[in-house]
Formats: sequence, structure tokens, C-alpha cells
Amino acid sequence: MALRTRCLKPPVTGNPYMLSLRAGQNRSWESFDKGMTHGFILEFASQEDLDYYLAEDPVHLEFSRRVGAQGLVEDSVVIDIKDGQLMLGPADMPQKPGTRQGQCHCGKTRFTAVLPLPRSSGATGHILCHCRTCRLLSGAPYTCNQIIAKEDLKIVEGSPSRYTYTGASGKPVDCYFCSHCTSHVYREQAAMPGKVIVRTLLLQDSEGWGVDGEMFREGRLEWAGDLERSLPS
Ligand SMILES: [Zn+2]
Ligand SMILES: [Zn+2]
Repeated sequence: MALRTRCLKPPVTGNPYMLSLRAGQNRSWESFDKGMTHGFILEFASQEDLDYYLAEDPVHLEFSRRVGAQGLVEDSVVIDIKDGQLMLGPADMPQKPGTRQGQCHCGKTRFTAVLPLPRSSGATGHILCHCRTCRLLSGAPYTCNQIIAKEDLKIVEGSPSRYTYTGASGKPVDCYFCSHCTSHVYREQAAMPGKVIVRTLLLQDSEGWGVDGEMFREGRLEWAGDLERSLPS
């Protein structure tokens, strides 16, 4: 019940934003409760507040984690209603800040990735890779990549095919690509558990990002460093 006063927005100096929280044990003698023993009704002023509660509020996220870890809840039913509205479609799933949409060339594979915008946020993460494997897989002089947490990549449409090779670490690397158009979407390396490497150029607006670094510098093709100079005028 303390969530009502402990959930603040913004989290440190903000005010409680949950309008009300009611809770109680189910006393119904009818047999329509589907085994549910308790009911909780949380009320929010806006969709934005509800989305913040579900996706970002650290107090709520920690509460959910603790309840899950203690195994207190065997089963639950969650419903989201707008008072008096009987004909609404489903609400959009709230997205973490920094969520970007991506897709392959043909559009049959669509995904979202959460990553800070390089440079503007001071993040050092948009990396060119000049390794030979990247060249062979992409047919280009180098690839553009960013390492993100695995949970921050979601395939929302399609189911990419997998190609596995042995990486420089001696451990397997799984490459995932659109089975229809072959766009390479991301890689997962046994040497880097919990992380995936996203091909950033498949993400919306990524053409405007700067780069923060490079890997396998020694493999950089002589002419690729300065095309102005390399190309005949
Ligand atoms: Zn495709
Ligand atoms: Zn590479």
C-alpha cells in the first residue's frame, strides 16, 4: 500500500503521482474469481503517468523484482481500463527512453533497440569494425555497431535466421539476419554474455550519428579512411 506515497515523479524530489491505490482480499462467495485471492486497483491521472509507473518508476520496478524473487504471487491478472470507455483498443506498450525502431531492407524483420544517442549523451559506443569477418558478411569496407544489453533488443516482427562462426576469442558468435532479404540485424557472442551487438545503420535516423571509435584498426582498408582523397576527382 505504501507504493501510493513512495512512487514519486521524478523519482528523487518529485511528488506522489498515483491518484489512488485500493487493495483487499476477495470475499466473493460466487465462483467467478478464477482463483484470485486479492484485488488491487491503481488509478493514474494520465497514460503518461501509467507508462512511467510500468516502465520506469524505480520504486515500482524494485517492488516487482522483490515480489517476483520471493515467489509471493502465484498467478495474476492485469487489466488496464479507462473509466466509462467500453470500446477502446489496446494501449501501446511503454518504451524505455532511448528506444529506436529498426528494420531490415525488406521490412519483414522489425526490431527496437534501446541505446543512447552517440555523442549527444557523451556515450562512447558507436563503433566501426574493420575485421575481415565483417567485410565478408557485409560486403562493405567496415560495419557500424553498438553493444547493448540483450534485454534492450526486441524483435517485434519476423524471426531472423542464424549463422554461427567461431570468433577471435575462440568462442561461437551467432549472427542473426533477415531470412528473406539477408540484412544482418545483430550478433551475439558467447564471449560477451548478456550483450548483443546491433548493426546501427538499420536503425531509424542513424545516418546522422557520429562515430566514437573503431575496432580492428589494422584491418582498415587503405582507401576507406579518406574517400575525398581516394576517389579520382
Ligand atoms: Zn528483410
Ligand atoms: Zn567485425
